[in-house]
Amino acid sequence: MLNRRQKLLIIDDTPVNIEILGELMGGECEVLFALNGTDGIELACSQLPDLILLDVMMPDVDGYEVCSRLKQDPLTRSIPVIFVTAMNHEEDEARGLEIGAIDYVNKPINQAIVRARIRNHLELKRHRDLLENICLADGLTGVANRRRFDQYLDQEWRRALRSGTTISLVMIDIDYFKLFNDGYGHVAGDECLRKVALKLVETLKRPSDMAARYGGEEFACILPETDAAGALLVAEELRHEVEALQIPHESSEVSSRVTISVGVASMTPSPGESYVAIAEQADQALYAAKKEGRNRVSSCRLDLQRETFRYNGSNFSAGLALS
Ligand code: GH3
Ligand code: MG
Ligand code: MG
Repeated sequence: MLNRRQKLLIIDDTPVNIEILGELMGGECEVLFALNGTDGIELACSQLPDLILLDVMMPDVDGYEVCSRLKQDPLTRSIPVIFVTAMNHEEDEARGLEIGAIDYVNKPINQAIVRARIRNHLELKRHRDLLENICLADGLTGVANRRRFDQYLDQEWRRALRSGTTISLVMIDIDYFKLFNDGYGHVAGDECLRKVALKLVETLKRPSDMAARYGGEEFACILPETDAAGALLVAEELRHEVEALQIPHESSEVSSRVTISVGVASMTPSPGESYVAIAEQADQALYAAKKEGRNRVSSCRLDLQRETFRYNGSNFSAGLALS
């Protein structure tokens, strides 16, 4: 992941400029391009490039405006932007840097200098990603930590709002984990948390799915572009896979092995709503799964009717709807 090929986005309304800049860096990174500001912003949001080369004078939205918008959106705020422009007055450069660009290059470009600058900024970006990854991983289990979870849920919630798609959240809590610690000790407890975390990561299949340690013995999985039916299947698979680890838990009141209770919520975000809404729903569903007897999946539907599910080997049976 950390050695992935970096992406460079070039936004310029003159194709020959894109060609020159693209050829300059094509061997070293993936080059994407847009011929106007609107497309450029869209590509930046969908591709999250590592660096953007931005022309100033463009017919629809000018480069300053593009840069301002990128810097206002939490999704694209931290992507470094270099202006590459024929506007070479000092005040133009000052303006570009003030609205958040990391560098400013004048046209016509000196290829060796521009290549060196792009390399430097890509290298800095790689180091920043590395540090971020360390800060955003849970120390015990290695999966995403709570901070990363909050960031990613916010990011994917906004993406779902823009695209009108459904996002699902799965909340997981290990059953009778206090008793596990009491019986087997904290070292074994920590080892159990690691195994469960790894199993969650292994079970999620799409690259956009994320498993995180939410806190203590609670985990959460974010499933972008997944509706309620799909999320229920994933949740049941997670529950099944953790049980199949066959970690002994003699003092559990629901099983002789470690089990999890799972709450699922699915929402299609509407404007003005925050991601806190889906977190609350998933939490309520998890609470219902606990109340209904643990080692099960409960879903909180949009109509606010909660249903608990037990898998009987071939299909789900819906339990009692709770109020
Ligand atoms: P329930 O089935 O209702 O979820 O019961 P529970 O015992 O799992 O829930 P409770 O919230 O009462 O206890 C959670 C326990 O998780 C308390 C604590 O000992 C344990 N725990 C939390 N974080 C860690 C950790 O990092 N390592 C270890 N070993 N245990 C932890
Ligand atoms: Mg708990
Ligand atoms: Mg618990």
